[in-house]
Amino acid sequence: MTTDVHQLDDGAWISVNDERRINVSDLWPLARHEVCDCETADFLVEGFAEVGVEHPDIQARVAGRCITCGTEAVTDWITVGRVIDPETGEFSAVDVTSVHVPDRRHRLARPQE
Ligand SMILES: [Zn+2]
Repeated sequence: MTTDVHQLDDGAWISVNDERRINVSDLWPLARHEVCDCETADFLVEGFAEVGVEHPDIQARVAGRCITCGTEAVTDWITVGRVIDPETGEFSAVDVTSVHVPDRRHRLARPQE
């Protein structure tokens, strides 16, 4: 089966295969990022700007702001989970409170699949 990824509720949720899996919440620490000049940005997630699939990873560009310096931004692509089993669509979310490294290489990935 193909993996079906969408934003719901104005970007408040990411659904994977029609199940709400990832919510905007908490601070997502960002390292090696371009959001602001902070070494590690404490990024308050306010919404998912774009979602995409880079098999087996589910990725998103995240809108929010660094609470240390106040800069508002949309991140490059962050892996938010992965499809463990493409046959069943079994999905595992990452620990969003662990450090993320946004990846601009996937900037041109198709937004949805
Ligand atoms: Zn900052």
